[in-house]
Amino acid sequence: MKDVRKKIAKRARRVVIKVGSAVIAAPPVDGADIFGRLASAIKELKASGRETAVVSSGAIALGMRRLGMRERPVAIPERQAAAAVGQGSLMAMYDSAFSAVDEKAAQVLLTHDDLGSRKRFLNARNTLTALFRLGIVPVINENDTVAVEEIKFGDNDALSALATNLVEADLLLILSDIDGLYDKDPKASPDAKKVHVVEDVDVLKTDSMANSANRLGTGGIRSKCEAARLAAHFGAATVIANGNRPGVIGRVMAGEDEGTLFLPKEDRLTSKKHWIAFSARPTGRVFVDDGAREALLKKGRSLLPSGIREVDGAFEAGEVVHCVDQSGMEFARGVANYSSSEIQRIKGLKSADVVGVLGYKVYDEVIHRDNLVVL
Ligand code: GLU
Repeated sequence: MKDVRKKIAKRARRVVIKVGSAVIAAPPVDGADIFGRLASAIKELKASGRETAVVSSGAIALGMRRLGMRERPVAIPERQAAAAVGQGSLMAMYDSAFSAVDEKAAQVLLTHDDLGSRKRFLNARNTLTALFRLGIVPVINENDTVAVEEIKFGDNDALSALATNLVEADLLLILSDIDGLYDKDPKASPDAKKVHVVEDVDVLKTDSMANSANRLGTGGIRSKCEAARLAAHFGAATVIANGNRPGVIGRVMAGEDEGTLFLPKEDRLTSKKHWIAFSARPTGRVFVDDGAREALLKKGRSLLPSGIREVDGAFEAGEVVHCVDQSGMEFARGVANYSSSEIQRIKGLKSADVVGVLGYKVYDEVIHRDNLVVL
């Protein structure tokens, strides 16, 4: 397995490093705070020809400190207020740590809704690509004033997985205050053993995992494994490791046995299909008959009007919809070529009859197989 780690580390050209609240707010280790350690490690990665984006939590944790709050607020608007106070402090720390090593950081605030829109996703990608080209390190956080997903339950774990596709990274490194994934909850069972490599993240039983939050952040091991799963489907490896251990980034990038490594899926989704499956927010449902469902699942076909029984929700052409069987169970997702009102009129028809009903035909397929992901 050592070889696999080395191969993955060597191959990684672009890396997303996710830093959790428990790491950001930890006291300095070996005299250096996390910002200084990160900046030096990222500078070294750059010297070895790699590009890094940071997904950083810690706005709430630093805001709490600034406001003299000892406990994480229970009310979400107060967490948002703490984040609004702390985000400035967070960026000031990154700015001075990167300046100290002659590098530059840029603040990028995103929400899941932003990434759910293909246009905004591509806009964000263009900005990030330009930052990489200029040699600047993007520091991404959720825009906590307008979105509450991560501050409710994620501590940016999910955001880091979406960012992996956004910047087309090969490796996601999740730094937290835990050493990795254990076979049992290490807090409850002292004999719990660390898992060194997860070969297939899809067979992990995450439902039974503790998702206990630490005092500062909200993400537990479950949301980290879920992030690793999303990254794996994009063809990126994930390492979950302890960010409070000095030198951890260098060791992971040298392919050493640090934390838990999650292997990428071999049949990776393209960036667009990954976006359809995980970033997009479906706006409606098409009910597909059994024959068409088989053709989609087993033969990799496109969805034609003739296979559609019913349509639900109001959506425009170009939006992502759920493909469900007749009991309403989702089995695929894809970009619709027709709006919900058009589908209402052409459902069940042969493609040749579409013009007669609509007066025009944009495509033969309601969802083309290139824009369809089987789940
Ligand atoms: N965006 C939040 C932050 O920066 C996520 C972490 C949390 O939930 O505490 O603080």
